[in-house]
Amino acid sequence: MSTSRMAGLALVAALAAAISGGAAAKPHRPPSPAPPPPADPAVVAAALRDKALDDSTAYGVVESLTTEVGQRLAGTPAAARAKDWALAKLTALGFSNVHAEPFAITAWIRGAESAEVTAPYPQTLVIIGLGASPPTPPEGIEAEIALFHSYADLLAAPPGSLTGKIAVVTQPMTRTQDGAGYGAATRFRRRGPVEAARRGAVAYLVRSISTSTSRSPHTGKVDYVADIPKIPAAALGVADAELLDRMVARGKPVRIRLALASTETPGAPAWNVSGDIVGSEKPDEAIVIGGHLDSWDPGQGAIDDATGVAITTAAAKLIGDLPRHPRRTIRVVMFGSEEMDYSGRSYADAHKADAARLVALSESDSGPGPIWNLQLPRGAAAATALKPLASLLAPLKVILADQPAQFAGADFGELQLEAGVPVFSFTPDTSLYFDVHHSADDTLDKVGRSDLNQSVAAWAALIYLLADSDVDLRALAKASPAAAPRP
Ligand SMILES: [Zn+2]
Repeated sequence: MSTSRMAGLALVAALAAAISGGAAAKPHRPPSPAPPPPADPAVVAAALRDKALDDSTAYGVVESLTTEVGQRLAGTPAAARAKDWALAKLTALGFSNVHAEPFAITAWIRGAESAEVTAPYPQTLVIIGLGASPPTPPEGIEAEIALFHSYADLLAAPPGSLTGKIAVVTQPMTRTQDGAGYGAATRFRRRGPVEAARRGAVAYLVRSISTSTSRSPHTGKVDYVADIPKIPAAALGVADAELLDRMVARGKPVRIRLALASTETPGAPAWNVSGDIVGSEKPDEAIVIGGHLDSWDPGQGAIDDATGVAITTAAAKLIGDLPRHPRRTIRVVMFGSEEMDYSGRSYADAHKADAARLVALSESDSGPGPIWNLQLPRGAAAATALKPLASLLAPLKVILADQPAQFAGADFGELQLEAGVPVFSFTPDTSLYFDVHHSADDTLDKVGRSDLNQSVAAWAALIYLLADSDVDLRALAKASPAAAPRP
């Protein structure tokens, strides 16, 4: 046997000892009631991290969900199949307390959709209706357009200036690593229809909130408000928005006909699916993580958000496979209606009473990674138990941010804000994410196994340290001065 092979076996034995919670018992030692001393959590976390990099669980979850269910817009029969898939998957992966928590939504279902320029240069346009948009009359709406090259220009338009017109905003989205471009642009879609209606518009078209030049349009939800007419709204393919820019530049009035046939069903069923890796000493204290199970309807919901479901499920499953579970519970929740903004409210309503026992929250909802940044809860960087993090994350090229986390993800927003549960936040590289997000191109082939596993490794290292500690994040937050510099 070569020395390098012996060294390799010694390393394997050391890792096995670390993962199994201590050194193997000596052969002739008398039985003792005292359990073996627990392994150094940092050693276990490092072993978990390294195992995650070569583990097939996360990719298997994404592949399974996108193949066996596919799109799963909340309120569709596919969403009910996704709920059954989630219950079976969590059970098969060894989770405990697996169950679905039902709630009611108004289901918005897409119908036939079309748009065309009728004058002066008749052409078909590629569009997709936006979530919550009302239908047009069956014959559609035909009107002259008022085109704005920026959202700020729409906001600057005076009241009444868009009466009878279809408002069009063609401002492009900026590509960024941290998602800031989406943060800036999402209002063009979410709030544009209300701002256009306030000024008299009869319908609204927005250039897809996309960093791609693909003609596939990107959908997403509109935030209508009670006192402003709900006008039909759709997203244009990027090339179609640029076509309208060129037509308008020629100076003649441009007319468009838009037809949308969506329906709404109040009281439709939806579910959040939950499963636990039960803590070995403090099972009532839970770190709650997850992703959203629902998706938009044109694609397969691969990067949004099968990957978030997969990353958090795989990280928890790897920890669940340890012979000794960490002291606290790790809970994975697959949320059933993030895209239409229902599951955060329903989860907070169902769990506000338990909030004091929730250690920390975080949702994965920005794609398969790689992760490049971690924001801890305020004050948590001072915790002795979390000190190994910087070293653990270094080989993954994940920065430990100086600034504390502000946001745990949309499905934890209400619980975070209303019950004050601490939050942490991993930031994946989103440079490519918004090329396909909410479009027909959100398919399995966009998911890279190594990026996905790098994300699982980072999540597993952090949540293991947190779960195997007794760190009081609320006390640390209170004791933390705002934005203390880190050495
Ligand atoms: Zn999402």
